[in-house]
Amino acid sequence: METHAFQAETQKLLDLMIHSLYSNKEVFLRELISNASDALDRRRFEAVSNTDLQVEGELEIRLVANRVERTLTLSDNGIGMSREDLVEHLGTIARSGTLEFLETTDQSSDPTPDLIGQFGVGFYASFMVATEVEVISRRVGEDKATRWTSKGAGEYSLEDATRDDAGTTIRLSLKEIDGEEGVSDFCDEWVLRQIVKKYSDFVAYPISLTIVEEATAAADPEDGGEDGAIDVTPGVPTEREVEEPLNSMKAIWTRPESDVDKAEFDEFYKHVTHDFQDPMLRVSTSIEGTFEARALLYVPGKAPFDLYHRERLHNGVQLYVRRVFIMDECRELLPEWLRFVRGVVDSEDLSLNVSREMLQQDRQIQTIRKHLVKKVAESLKAMAKNEPEQYRAFWAEFGPVVKEGLLDFEEKRDRIFDLVLAPSSENETDLVSLADYVERMPEDQEAIYYIAGPKLDVLRRSPHLEAFKEQGIEVLFLTDPVDEVWVGQGSVAYKDKPWKSIGHGEVELGTDEDKEKAKVDLEKQEETYGDLLEALKAAIEDDVKEVRLSSRLKSSASCLVLEDGDLSPQLEAMLRQAGQEIPERKPILELNPNHVVVERLGKRFEDNPTDPQIGSSAKLLLGQAVLAEGGQLEDPAGFAELVNKLMTETL
Ligand code: ADP
Repeated sequence: METHAFQAETQKLLDLMIHSLYSNKEVFLRELISNASDALDRRRFEAVSNTDLQVEGELEIRLVANRVERTLTLSDNGIGMSREDLVEHLGTIARSGTLEFLETTDQSSDPTPDLIGQFGVGFYASFMVATEVEVISRRVGEDKATRWTSKGAGEYSLEDATRDDAGTTIRLSLKEIDGEEGVSDFCDEWVLRQIVKKYSDFVAYPISLTIVEEATAAADPEDGGEDGAIDVTPGVPTEREVEEPLNSMKAIWTRPESDVDKAEFDEFYKHVTHDFQDPMLRVSTSIEGTFEARALLYVPGKAPFDLYHRERLHNGVQLYVRRVFIMDECRELLPEWLRFVRGVVDSEDLSLNVSREMLQQDRQIQTIRKHLVKKVAESLKAMAKNEPEQYRAFWAEFGPVVKEGLLDFEEKRDRIFDLVLAPSSENETDLVSLADYVERMPEDQEAIYYIAGPKLDVLRRSPHLEAFKEQGIEVLFLTDPVDEVWVGQGSVAYKDKPWKSIGHGEVELGTDEDKEKAKVDLEKQEETYGDLLEALKAAIEDDVKEVRLSSRLKSSASCLVLEDGDLSPQLEAMLRQAGQEIPERKPILELNPNHVVVERLGKRFEDNPTDPQIGSSAKLLLGQAVLAEGGQLEDPAGFAELVNKLMTETL
């Protein structure tokens, strides 16, 4: 026998379980049954290609409640675990998210009851109800079994064991329940029936129950009876198997939607995903015609921790063929931008032998995928319309992922744009949909105006907005990193309106007359200030491509703009980080000809074109433009020095 210490994080999790005040302790059984069901799925699947692995009897889950010893045993004849599997799966926490979650929680304080409800803990949930857990498991194809035991305190033991067939048996020594309020007796037939019915009714394998109890004639008058139809010796335990399986085994997606209540649908979601929380949205759909398939999909209530770590994320839906489980995490069924959608797809026509390789080319899979994308997008759109609050919660969790779909040339972009919400200059607190934006655009507005950058606060106060605000033109704020990528792809349009950055190129707002007048004004001012602009440029030549006047600014003195088609600084940084070579590009410094600073500079320049104030003013105007867009100064100390000099002169 050897003992191993639990990985530190696992121990934290176990401590949380052992001292848990979580009232919903019964969910441990759902977790164990889900694991058993997964193990049976995997065995059935492996047996398709390797007949040696077939089970002689039935694939099943057996519960034995021993009321005398107060133990609950759960056995399955599924795939089983080898010694290494036991160490890996029951000694460490595989899921990165759980780890991060634990790190962010305060370990010193009492575990709050709902902490457990916030993330799945699977097998470890056993320690909410058991003082000791024993696992005996034998991996399919191996002869040896291994016994794993632990009291949840620091370590677990491993030793060789025997088991007649492959599979796993988990025995829980149940905690005493005396005095603990609201805790059920998990050795009780009625309690176990209720729990299985509630959480695991649709499990595809029969769940049987055997009760072992003290044999007293009075204990069970119906079976035992006064005339003793069953031979009982007082003091010697009797064994009694409950006649029918505890679960109906009906695949939930084959039942008419009206027959299944929300609680059942929610439980099925938890069974499939091992999530503890209810889903946010359910999508049931079927394909009929030359081939048939059904799908029951869900959007989780919260984004998983590893949504952006694709290699680690559990994603994709389960694939069934005629009610037989084929595989987990079938990524071919949904595009990446819907990778948070979970659930099942059941096809009537695919072969039971489909492999992952075949799936990639399969025409039916492609058709199912198209259908699912359409249905999920429609359901989300309906949610946006009918439950706007709920939809905002959805968008907060998954919006950036949905927008990744805009990068995929095979997707219908407008369908995704229909789902997009963004903050806007018209509304300080709420988000607007693109449909609403386009709807309330003035008739002569030709483009969807936006400004992109990582910080919403900075964008809201950007000098670039000034002319737009004055004209009452709404501007959208794009703050997710992915935004810069899709919007930078060029020729992106929604409802035939192109997207236009207010920080790129020149602005021309208002009616044709307005534009003409602005142009004439600007030309005049350029004549006046032409030489000044040259002198300013000469002072900051290394940093800017040009210094020019603009009608974009109303209250600020300066801002930076890019040429149409130039990458934004953030996107540039991202691409450089990804190892791409990006040529150096300089922005243009635009000045507000009506600003008092610019006017006075003009006068200074007239009096003395070589006044040193001209050069330092150029640097100050550039510096404030960089700061106003949330950028970083090349030489912060130099900038501070200039400001101080100015203050010394004026104070
Ligand atoms: P989860 O099921 O969410 O992955 P668990 O902690 O419940 O997390 O289980 C960890 C792993 O242990 C499972 O992914 C599985 O590989 C293995 N496991 C648990 N129970 C069984 C079982 N009854 N049969 C085979 N493997 C199991």
